Amino acid sequence: MEVDLLIENGKLVIPKGGVFPACVGVVDGRVVGIFDSPDGISARQRIDCKGCHVLPGIVEPHVHYGYRGNLKGNFGTETASAALGGITTVIPFYRDILNPTSLYEDIPRVRALGEENSYIDFSFHLLLITRNQLKNMTKYVKEFGITSFKFYMAYKGKDSQSIGLTGNETDDGFLFDAFSALGRMQGVVACVHAENIEVILSLVDKYQGEGRQGLRTWSECRPNFTEAESVHRAATFADVAGCPLYVAHVTTKESLEELRLCKSRRQKIYVETCPHYLTLNKDYPLGNIAKVNPPLRSEEDIAALWRGITSGLVDTVGSDHCPFLKEDKEGTIWDAKTGFPGSATMLPVLLSEGVHKRKVALERVAELMSYNPARIFNLFPRKGTIQIGSDADFCIVDLEMSKRVNHEMLFSCSDFSVYEGWTLKGWPVMTIVRGKTVMKDGKIAGLQGHGRFIGTNQV
Ligand SMILES: [Zn+2]
Repeated sequence: MEVDLLIENGKLVIPKGGVFPACVGVVDGRVVGIFDSPDGISARQRIDCKGCHVLPGIVEPHVHYGYRGNLKGNFGTETASAALGGITTVIPFYRDILNPTSLYEDIPRVRALGEENSYIDFSFHLLLITRNQLKNMTKYVKEFGITSFKFYMAYKGKDSQSIGLTGNETDDGFLFDAFSALGRMQGVVACVHAENIEVILSLVDKYQGEGRQGLRTWSECRPNFTEAESVHRAATFADVAGCPLYVAHVTTKESLEELRLCKSRRQKIYVETCPHYLTLNKDYPLGNIAKVNPPLRSEEDIAALWRGITSGLVDTVGSDHCPFLKEDKEGTIWDAKTGFPGSATMLPVLLSEGVHKRKVALERVAELMSYNPARIFNLFPRKGTIQIGSDADFCIVDLEMSKRVNHEMLFSCSDFSVYEGWTLKGWPVMTIVRGKTVMKDGKIAGLQGHGRFIGTNQV
């Protein structure tokens, strides 16, 4: 047999399939065979993975590009940063920053911008905030190939100004109508940012009035129940509407309990958490840098999230990557922007804190970070696994490699990392997208413009 590329000498990690030594043959960017031995296979290129594990490429379900008006630049630097972290497909939450109520006529342009500048593959979630946008959902699915829609339960009313979201019509009626419309469609999913902003704004007024400051205050004006209550409400609407629901960045033990109940009655509901909610508590000494929504929580919540990782209650891990600069984080806790970068450190954090420290199975990590997001967002089996016919997307991991995090080695345009100074054990050493090496030994080896838009209505 003759192949373009043979990945040999590594241990394959196939979600739901096991961990075993094998070689993978690639022709024209797709997997054509999985072999016990390289004997008798001639290959134009061979990659020796001695001592390493070969995971399916990581599918990063949660990033934000273009918040500082630099979408084009972000498709370059932030997909390079993602590739450093073993990510082969990224799904940005797209919204029109300058014109939030637009009907998204510019999606073909945005998609072209991504294909000209991205190192890795991508698709989109689309933020919907007006009834006119809701009316266009079928068009977004059929013409734009987007099947995942995001709804903000936070950032409505007065709070929408904090992220420049003018004209946001979201309220409970809007959500229920949107979920009902999606419930009548096939192969679509609703995503929510679940926080009860009315209660939060009232607490913000109170704490601001009392002159309170600091990261802990940010957490305390968004208490656990404000998330859990919103999760319950969104889950109820989605259940009645028959709409699959993806709950982004779940942070509390109370929300997990709500979600466990939903899953026990077989509701189609998916749970995402983020590396920072698994590792940093509300007293973490980073100040404004670690300001994020939902906020950092307690050690008890962190422990509950790890239990969810192990038990299967948590379906995916996404980074909620927001490539802000330190200058965006200046001022009081009330002034600073919310969010921080995370794509590049997402897998190393899970390997170090999960696989090494808490004995989470590597196969489970591949399930959480590749197989599950690919399935939930209609990218499977093209993405999310290693099988004949799948895209040749691989993340080759050295579990024994230790590196100290320094934001400069992460390639993001962001000038900080919440993990700065942490020594993480377990790093991707090579990232391969459709048979082409994009990252090798911590350096970018691919080309901008290699990334392709993957329409999720046709995989
Ligand atoms: Zn987000």
